[in-house]
Amino acid sequence: MNLPEDPPLHPDTLAIRSGIERSQFGEHGEAMYLTSSFVFDNAAQAAARFSGEEEGNVYARFSNPTVTAMQTRLAALEGAEACVATASGMSAILSLAMATLQAGDHVVASNGLFGATQQLFGGILSKFGIETSFVPATDLGAYRKAVRPRTRLFFVETPSNPLTEVVDIAGVAAIAHEAGALLAVDNCFCTPALQRPLALGADVVVHSATKYLDGQGRVLGGAVAGRKAVTDEVFKFLRTAGPTLSPFNAWVIFKGLETLRIRMEAQSAAALELARWLEAQPGVARVYYPGLPSHPQHELAMRQQKAGGAIVSFDVKGGRDEAWKVVDSTRLISITANLGDTKTTITHPATTTHGRITPEARMAAGIGDGLLRVAVGLESVEDLKTDLARGLGA
Ligand SMILES: *Cc1c(COP(=O)(O)O)cnc(C)c1O
Repeated sequence: MNLPEDPPLHPDTLAIRSGIERSQFGEHGEAMYLTSSFVFDNAAQAAARFSGEEEGNVYARFSNPTVTAMQTRLAALEGAEACVATASGMSAILSLAMATLQAGDHVVASNGLFGATQQLFGGILSKFGIETSFVPATDLGAYRKAVRPRTRLFFVETPSNPLTEVVDIAGVAAIAHEAGALLAVDNCFCTPALQRPLALGADVVVHSATKYLDGQGRVLGGAVAGRKAVTDEVFKFLRTAGPTLSPFNAWVIFKGLETLRIRMEAQSAAALELARWLEAQPGVARVYYPGLPSHPQHELAMRQQKAGGAIVSFDVKGGRDEAWKVVDSTRLISITANLGDTKTTITHPATTTHGRITPEARMAAGIGDGLLRVAVGLESVEDLKTDLARGLGA
């Protein structure tokens, strides 16, 4: 449908109204097109569709109206020229790498990336002759020093997981562009509701739509959004290799985007309140949350994000036993490594998400044995405090 363009629509309106193509039935709720292929009127049309001469759907590995709807809406929210949806967040990152890199190329990535992303860049891609340098997330000088003649891609995640370190997106964009490289930002934790990396100079954004974009823990999905020159290459890879988002999952995520802003604002407000409360608990040594003035990059975070996000981490005084006691004393909060749900979750990173790295590497990364990560959902904050207070002996 043609939306009014002048004056430009607010993101709140785009979240509800963009991406809709009504069918001949005039449905108000969007249709879900569960079809793998599409029929043509005649042989000539089939040929024109296949050659790309005529626009239209062909085969759902690379074209489906429900997936297109979700891509259009996410592109509108990120302020991106185009978006390509993928089966998961990891397949979005893989597709970006396959589309933009070749053997001999070099990547600069921030420390503290999502575990599977670290393994993808540090392990799998290195088998194909693509080397990655990991640099401290908050040290702009380290990004600059890591540049090599074949550096093609900078990849950062902000805030980082689980320590909520904040990367200066505009600062890294300037360094990447000076080096003739692209900057990709994993915008999973903030979503476009709180942070728009493209407006800060990034070339491309990747998403695990599994997290806040769906927001209710139902489906896996991912996306690459940004400059069309980049997403066109990602599309060529996806068309051939097939890490495609299913139309069912696309529909769920499409509807999730409608409530994204109010969820992110409510979950961020609850996380801030919980972070303040945790800071006052005698059993807590340190709280990591970008919305707190005690956070080392608080000012940068408040400049580049609309709110602190929904992830709060904290060090429990003592070590593993004291941290496990907090986890095991919860009756409400889910013990799971997932995040981005309306249900609040709790994780002990040192023995789960970061359990496979050496204790020395873990310490160097700042992941202590007393560290816990809470991904705040939409329950009452008072009930969450009560649930955590039990194990903190408060
Ligand atoms: C979960 C996650 C991913 C991977 O997404 P999947 O949908 O699980 O493949 C990538 N980056 C971040 C920051 C994540 O939290």
